[in-house]
Amino acid sequence: MKGSIVLFGPPGAGKGTQANRIVSLTSKPQVSTGDMLRQAVSSGSELGVAARAFMEAGELVPDDVIIGLINQRLKEEDASSGVLFDGFPRTIAQAEELSKIAQLSVVISIEVPDESIVERIVGRRMDPETGNIYHIKFNPAPESIAHRLIQRKDDNESTVRTRLSAYHEQTSPLASWYESQGLLIKINGNRSIKKVGDDIISELSDK
Ligand code: ADP
Ligand code: ADP
Repeated sequence: MKGSIVLFGPPGAGKGTQANRIVSLTSKPQVSTGDMLRQAVSSGSELGVAARAFMEAGELVPDDVIIGLINQRLKEEDASSGVLFDGFPRTIAQAEELSKIAQLSVVISIEVPDESIVERIVGRRMDPETGNIYHIKFNPAPESIAHRLIQRKDDNESTVRTRLSAYHEQTSPLASWYESQGLLIKINGNRSIKKVGDDIISELSDK
């Protein structure tokens, strides 16, 4: 596959969880704007300071900040054969900008109903050493690393509701935008991690 892939879906859909398998299959690097922003926040950079309040409130970070980040990232050498976008684009303005700087092969939309999202987000845990994502109930971490798991500051019930509204208002319109371009593939994300991943891999293998 020549172009880039977009992993699309609401917060907690399983984009980060599925990214590893897609990276192994395609050898395209994962570009997660959420991870990039969290790194900027923890390094205390100017960009991180600007983004932090939006993230903690569950609101989208302004488009110009995100577009600046992506522009810079795509100039790196490993991005020359396309990347796996995770959590980007999230607005029509971001998608329009992206269409000027990268060619997309496919947009994988992982569909999960709102009722499942809150439980997924509140139970999410991350391993800061490997970046691996776990869930207290659906994907428990091995006992040996349980002590070092962290919970994201924005993974609480009130912030997740704001994030879901932002998704419905600003991000979900992108699905029909990409559908009309013939790029969208819908995946039922309300099944086991393995089944969802198998479906994605089989769709991508046909491309
Ligand atoms: P996103 O990157 O889309 O925000 P994540 O991959 O971080 O989503 O997943 C959110 C939470 O839901 C994590 O705790 C993850 O372990 C869990 N999860 C992911 N996929 C599934 C699934 N198919 N079934 C149940 N839980 C899942
Ligand atoms: P999740 O998939 O759980 O919603 P992410 O890690 O993708 O989480 O994003 C965390 C937060 O970072 C978002 O709530 C938002 O504030 C910000 N963010 C990430 N990507 C973008 C983006 N493309 N546009 C605007 N804000 C973003």
